[in-house]
Amino acid sequence: FDMFVLAFVERLFRPSYKKDDFLLGKKLGEGSFGVVYRVSLANKPSSKEGDLVLKKATEYGAVEIWMNERVRRACASSCADFVYGFLESSSKKSAEYWLIWRFEGDATLADLVQSREFPYNVGEVQDLPKGLERENRIIQTIMRQILFALDGLHSTGIVHRDIKPQNIIFSEESRTFKIIDLGAATDLRVGINYIPKEFLLDPRYAAPEQYIMSTQTPSAPSVPVATALSPVLWQLNSPDRFDIYSAGLIFLQMAFPGLRTDNSLIQFNRQLKRCDYDIVAWRKTVEPRCGPELRRGFELLDLDGGIGWELLKSMVRYKARQRLSAKAALAHPYFDREGLLALSFMQ
Ligand code: ADP
Ligand code: MG
Repeated sequence: FDMFVLAFVERLFRPSYKKDDFLLGKKLGEGSFGVVYRVSLANKPSSKEGDLVLKKATEYGAVEIWMNERVRRACASSCADFVYGFLESSSKKSAEYWLIWRFEGDATLADLVQSREFPYNVGEVQDLPKGLERENRIIQTIMRQILFALDGLHSTGIVHRDIKPQNIIFSEESRTFKIIDLGAATDLRVGINYIPKEFLLDPRYAAPEQYIMSTQTPSAPSVPVATALSPVLWQLNSPDRFDIYSAGLIFLQMAFPGLRTDNSLIQFNRQLKRCDYDIVAWRKTVEPRCGPELRRGFELLDLDGGIGWELLKSMVRYKARQRLSAKAALAHPYFDREGLLALSFMQ
């Protein structure tokens, strides 16, 4: 009850906006469910480029607004700062949902990983010379931040289902990575967006299981039932581990320069499938004849007695239940070493 009163009061005092309040800037992205622009407030063009982001979304926008509202109350630091969302139906035949966030920064993890400089374009370590150790320390810090954000979402009952470098943004203000794009997310506690059949997973980062809940699970339960049942369903099906698999592939791409392009990741996925998703078997087949771009990844993960390789193995596993949870991954010895205090990414 208190939570609803709080949410209502909070909503009442937050500014609300309408279509004409925004000046459209540069287009930042276009997916199958919406278009994203950088925007500014029309009555307050504080910066030329705009300090807000607008997504004009299709009917899926309703769920994305719901997810963002929930995140801002339960685990705000996990995701980009959500400002406001509303139904815009003034001039169109079909309604659009408009979602507004604070502009967090120019670079997604995808942009940063694609650079030749990676990971030195993300962080600096004062006390270490350039080399594997230093790269490992930066990658460790990025992984810790991704897992921390995921732990926040999962503890709230939200599974993202589209974790990939393109959906992880570097927030220039907090100097941390945050998750964006909750358009495919599902909230198991209240059964919102419960495995829509038409949903297409990104095949590059998707875990092998097609459905994150057992197919025997009945369709979305009603709200009160879901609240009572879902912790059990959660334990039975480990739906959160879908995101862990995707995060494991991000770890893999950061560690292996040779797996950072789309094509090489697709090829890796094919090879891993041929090895029945046994990453140790994959290593046995590729390592003896691999070039320097792959060898460097194995060397990085083998540092400190192979603790990085150990973590990767426990995230990229066929069976969801055998993958670590975000919380357990954060407690993994790979993170025992001091990471970086803050990342120092600059344009
Ligand atoms: P979609 O993938 O559905 O097109 P996203 O929510 O992933 O939509 O946004 C598309 C792109 O817009 C992102 O990859 C990112 O570059 C940019 N973007 C989204 N939200 C923000 C934000 N809060 N701050 C800065 N850039 C953002
Ligand atoms: Mg996206």
